[in-house]
Amino acid sequence: MKVMIGLEIHVQMSEAGSKLFCDCKANYRGMKPNTNVCPVCLGLPGALPVVNKRSIELALLAAVAFKCNIPRYIVFTRKHYFYPDLPKNYQISMYEKAGGIPICRGGYVKYLDVNSWEWRECRIRRINIEEDPGRTVYEEGGIVRSPYALVDYNRSGVPLLEVITEPDINSPREARTLVEYILLTLEYLGITNPRLEGVFRVDANISIEGGERVEVKNIGSTMDIEKALNYEIMRQAMIINSGSKVERETRHWDAEKGVTRPLRHKEYEEEYLYFPDPDLPPILISEDMVTKAKEIVLGFDITILYENILKLGVPRDIAWSIVTIKPSLDVYIKTVKLGADPLVAAKILGIDYKGELKERNMDLYEYNNWPPPETVYELVRLVVDKIYTYDTVKGLLIPKIAENPKVDVRSILPEKAENIEDIIDSVIREEEKAVKDYLSGKKQALNYLIGMVIRRVGKRAVDPRVIREALENKLSKLKSSM
Ligand code: ADP
Ligand code: MG
Ligand code: ZN
Repeated sequence: MKVMIGLEIHVQMSEAGSKLFCDCKANYRGMKPNTNVCPVCLGLPGALPVVNKRSIELALLAAVAFKCNIPRYIVFTRKHYFYPDLPKNYQISMYEKAGGIPICRGGYVKYLDVNSWEWRECRIRRINIEEDPGRTVYEEGGIVRSPYALVDYNRSGVPLLEVITEPDINSPREARTLVEYILLTLEYLGITNPRLEGVFRVDANISIEGGERVEVKNIGSTMDIEKALNYEIMRQAMIINSGSKVERETRHWDAEKGVTRPLRHKEYEEEYLYFPDPDLPPILISEDMVTKAKEIVLGFDITILYENILKLGVPRDIAWSIVTIKPSLDVYIKTVKLGADPLVAAKILGIDYKGELKERNMDLYEYNNWPPPETVYELVRLVVDKIYTYDTVKGLLIPKIAENPKVDVRSILPEKAENIEDIIDSVIREEEKAVKDYLSGKKQALNYLIGMVIRRVGKRAVDPRVIREALENKLSKLKSSM
């Protein structure tokens, strides 16, 4: 049973600063309803749109990152429909068949499938720039039961990228992985913050061999992409198995119930009365703009960043774990530049420090929750110089640093631990009998000596294995010098 999936991924360019055609904010979150508005994004008569250059530059980064063909100029079109959250009664987009020219066409994404660790490819059909409509809010019982609807225009006019793929995806899991990879790319390029509420929506088209395609609208999380598509495969397979045919249809993903529901028959495109927007001139994309975009994209290519970590001898799952969290990658690169052992640093940042933040429910993407590279360098040194074992650093120091990432490592080192060598020396000097016993072959005397050292350095301060190792070294030197 062959499955074909193609996606339309709508991502807000939340980092564009302002809306697409006015200078209201692109990130409207946390604002009182209808306070992030102006005559342009409210569609008041006589107001004219002016393109936010930053949105075009950001969209161009995506176009370059996905190796698309970039036109000499782009053209916006109008898509007409009536809905209360669309104040102009049309949405400005880039419909190709009515004279629109999208920011790019015909590229591809090479993405890492972290389930099989294989690289996969999915072609990109085109990328459009368009504006988000406002938001309709149903209080008191949701869309079905609420006696009224509220409209909030704070989101009206926020710049969106619409990334449309070819139907190259063959499983729900791949679809999810692809979207995660695309979002990570857009995050690295400074286009969006994928963790903002409602920052992306996916429409997934899916067909099973022999049947028409079904479009599932309004999927709001990467986990739901996989769920919705799995549900659709099951539903469509049941139709096929019962001898019927799957009809071309648009469905809606109900995340709460975990099902897709029929929405409406797809409108005919004529109904949208598309035409090029006469208020907006074609926008030239200069070679200079493309060259600049290429430079930026090269510096933030996650594939290159990931492979550079692999080259340092770091296992792929740890390397990927670091790359997927930008603050941890930034700290990692700087720590390695300071001269730290790349593998120990990777383990600290990619596994144990990250795990500690998760356990504490702390935001992994907040730079302030990560320690400065000097601190990680110091931790690595403690391990590499065998002052502590890795387990001691993990169990004792990492939690203290997560509690206060700016803390001076020296101030949290367990008491007396720095002069552990001296302590061992004095125990050897003072415990003559136990030393003599050990040297004459009574191996259990070593446990007594370890106990004496632990008593002085304080419990949990140093991993007993470190003490054992240090003691054995010193005692064997003592023996050979006798
Ligand atoms: P529309 O203009 O109706 O949105 P498009 O031809 O532009 O339709 O395709 C929209 C999306 O549907 C694209 O992402 C494309 O990859 C996907 N798609 C096209 N054909 C199929 C198919 N047979 N099965 C699954 N997805 C498909
Ligand atoms: Mg479409
Ligand atoms: Zn505005």
